[in-house]
Amino acid sequence: MAKLSLFGPDKYYVWHTFGNLIYKEAIKSIHTKAVGDTINSYKPNKVLGTAPPKINKVEKTMSRRIRSQLSQLRSGYSNILNSFRSKLDAETTNNCPECHATPHDTIHLFECPANPTHLTPSSLWTEPDLVAKFLKLDNG
Ligand SMILES: [Zn+2]
Repeated sequence: MAKLSLFGPDKYYVWHTFGNLIYKEAIKSIHTKAVGDTINSYKPNKVLGTAPPKINKVEKTMSRRIRSQLSQLRSGYSNILNSFRSKLDAETTNNCPECHATPHDTIHLFECPANPTHLTPSSLWTEPDLVAKFLKLDNG
């Protein structure tokens, strides 16, 4: 193949290819910066104390009610938690109904000695289907 020249008969091919490379590099660079900026803008999750992982797409197949309960648990504001209920109702204590430890918060659900599991609080994001089963979340 003959040497390509910017000025010979191949000039359009060369400029086109070169232009596409610059365009692709620019797009890639803009994308990388936008993704980085977005990740840095995420506030740490209150339950995890860090930026949360992405929610697994499997959650889209789950019922609205269960998704709502998962979302409440991710925020720490859930009727399932006595840490939350005790703030609304003076007669409820912030203790686990199973092992009586305190606080009965989202973290405790995954660390309760009465309900051992390999799941962790971040499983609320990464394995919502397994968490729903483990916590016996229901549609009712
Ligand atoms: Zn417990």
